Amino acid sequence: MILENKTAIITGATRGIGHAIAVRFAKEGCNVAFCGRTRNEKMIAVEQELSALGVKAKGYATDVADYDSAQAFVKEVLADFGKVDILVNNAGITDDSAVKRMTEEQFDRVMHTNLKSVFCMTKAIQPAMWRQGHGAIVNIGSVVGIAGNYNQANYAASKAGIIGFSKSCAKEFAARNIRVNVVCPGFIETEMTAEVPKELMATWCSRIPMKRPGTADEVAQACVFLASDMCPYITSHVMPVCGGMEDA
Ligand code: NAP
Repeated sequence: MILENKTAIITGATRGIGHAIAVRFAKEGCNVAFCGRTRNEKMIAVEQELSALGVKAKGYATDVADYDSAQAFVKEVLADFGKVDILVNNAGITDDSAVKRMTEEQFDRVMHTNLKSVFCMTKAIQPAMWRQGHGAIVNIGSVVGIAGNYNQANYAASKAGIIGFSKSCAKEFAARNIRVNVVCPGFIETEMTAEVPKELMATWCSRIPMKRPGTADEVAQACVFLASDMCPYITSHVMPVCGGMEDA
């Protein structure tokens, strides 16, 4: 088990890609602290699912886009788990619209949830990782942050911002053996993409060399690798997980 005895924080793990990452990490022996915005049945079910895999697991209700909430979340996790070796910043939203029609509120909400949250969580965990002299941060970007997309200027900007932020942190933190990498999923089947009309889904798939959407678990496998000790010299890397999509 390649993450045995490690502890990870995974944001937004109540469903979708974050949930798949939490399950993969637990199967690799990693203790998992995760969050969603509310403590509900889903969160409790994920706690139980992860605990059944033989690791310590706890869900926290946190808004990671809020600076003080992120600080309190990390403080609580450190008190409960004793240390944090890995941070996966996965929580994210979309609120699509053409720029012509996009409101300021739509732009700000996506930027705060997707990009400011990465700053808030990195700020909160950085002192503990700095003290312990190691850490792995995996930020979930998107191929849309590399290539752009129709009706997703706010989302693309937030995900492109994650790449710039991560590469800067990689430089600043390297001396303390803290690695920072980005995983950029392509088109992955989750609740976030469930609303995409079938015809549009078929068009998208036809443009993917592998001719299918990816699975959340395929993204999770890339995260396991980047979070593990299998790549101690990999930092500042942007890894697309997209079936060979153009521009990624
Ligand atoms: P999802 O199914 O909608 O899940 C999003 C998760 O984030 C949920 O657990 C949600 O929990 C949590 N969350 C949202 N806002 C939050 C906040 N402010 N504070 C704390 N938790 C919050 O999304 P997904 O498809 O799995 O996507 C996960 C990540 O992958 C996102 O960053 C997304 O941009 C990225 N991505 C997805 C795709 C794709 O095709 N699906 C492609 C590229 C990149 P609650 O609702 O319980 O709060």
